[in-house]
Amino acid sequence: MNVQSSHGHSHSKGPQSLRLTKGAKKVLEVLERTDELSSAQDIHSALRNEEDSPPGLTTVYRSLESLVQLGLVQSVDFGDGERRYEMVKPGEHHHHLVCEKCRNSVHLDQCLVQQLEESIQAKYKFEVRGHILEIFGLCEQCQQAMAPAGKNQ
Ligand SMILES: [Zn+2]
Ligand SMILES: [Zn+2]
Ligand SMILES: [Zn+2]
Repeated sequence: MNVQSSHGHSHSKGPQSLRLTKGAKKVLEVLERTDELSSAQDIHSALRNEEDSPPGLTTVYRSLESLVQLGLVQSVDFGDGERRYEMVKPGEHHHHLVCEKCRNSVHLDQCLVQQLEESIQAKYKFEVRGHILEIFGLCEQCQQAMAPAGKNQ
């Protein structure tokens, strides 16, 4: 369930006009058609299912790295050792609520720390360039599943 999704209705197909490697283009295509955060493994197996000569896992990782650097892809740390990736509009980012049990995630449509950045900048004379913030916990379904029997509804 997405609170907000910026995917899927962008008018300018910007990325294609950039000079991307073949691998990076394919990785981007996979990310473009999903709202879910995908791991490198997910992307790799998606490509293996549909490509005659799919890029190897190393290429997928390398492509993701360069896409992140270009600001076309955001990498998200789920705290389980495997990063997830999603396509973002250039220069944009979002934050996520990550369920520690089922690993579902909800995209938040607003930046939670813009004010904090400004006060840090003022107080510490620190030029803030970015931040990473994910919120971990239990989604509603997992809370219900863990509730004592009989207490449902
Ligand atoms: Zn959950
Ligand atoms: Zn997101
Ligand atoms: Zn933010």
